[in-house]
Amino acid sequence: MQPYTIHPPFFLLRSLERCWRCNEVARVFAFAASRCTTSDEELEDYIPLGGPFMLYNALDLPADLVEFARELGASIQRRYSKTAETEYYMNLCHCGAPFGDYFMFNEPGHAFFPTSEEEAAMIEIFQLPLPHPVGVDSGFTESDLSLIFECGIRR
Ligand SMILES: [Zn+2]
Repeated sequence: MQPYTIHPPFFLLRSLERCWRCNEVARVFAFAASRCTTSDEELEDYIPLGGPFMLYNALDLPADLVEFARELGASIQRRYSKTAETEYYMNLCHCGAPFGDYFMFNEPGHAFFPTSEEEAAMIEIFQLPLPHPVGVDSGFTESDLSLIFECGIRR
C-alpha cells in the first residue's frame, strides 16, 4: 500500500557515515522530494508542508528510485529495525551492517544532519530524471534542508 504521493523534482542525496561495526566510512543515500500529497484525510496531518523533504523509514519505494540509488553505489535493502519496530529500506555497509535512519537523520553531525557549511558541502545532490509523481509508503523528515541544498555538491 502506498498512501502518499510524492512529486518531482526528486533528488538523491549521497553522504558519508562511519560504520559502527567495521569502523570504515561508507557511502549512504537518502531520497528527497519536493511535495507530498495524500487522498487519505486521516494522513493529511503527516504530510510535510515545505519542500524539499527527505523520506525516512521508507517501507515501500518505487523500483525506479531504488534502481537509481543502486546505480550510484547504494547498497540498500529492506530490513527489520528494532528501533523503528518495522521493516524499512536501510543503507548497508559493505560489511553488511545496517545504518539506521534515526541515527543518520536525527543525530547532529551525522550523514543527513549537517551542522555547518563544511559538513553540508560533503553531501552530493543528484536530481533524478523522473518527471511523474510516484506513490510511497514512508515517513518524512521535518528538518530544514536549505543548508544541504545551498552548500551541497550538485551532480
Ligand atoms: Zn561496516
